[in-house]
Amino acid sequence: MNAPDHVTIHAATRRLSLTWNDGQTQWIDNATLRKRCPCSTCRRLMLSGHKARVESNVAIVDLQPMGYGVQIVFSDGHAQGIYPWDYLAGIV
Ligand SMILES: [Zn+2]
Repeated sequence: MNAPDHVTIHAATRRLSLTWNDGQTQWIDNATLRKRCPCSTCRRLMLSGHKARVESNVAIVDLQPMGYGVQIVFSDGHAQGIYPWDYLAGIV
């Protein structure tokens, strides 16, 4: 899957927008992204029936492009998750 044309942090509304190659723009809440973190620690937590403790006002402080996806650095210090583009596209 190709990287989106634009990935933008919207700090005021606590959302991330992704503009895909077909011109569609997808919006995802920061808290949703944090809850859906695909790193092994968060996946293990979810598989064992636990929910990650996520502040509703969690912010995205940095994005690191990784080719097949993007590493998201959150304000709670969690930065282990690398989100593949197809995974992000599937988050509603
Ligand atoms: Zn994680």
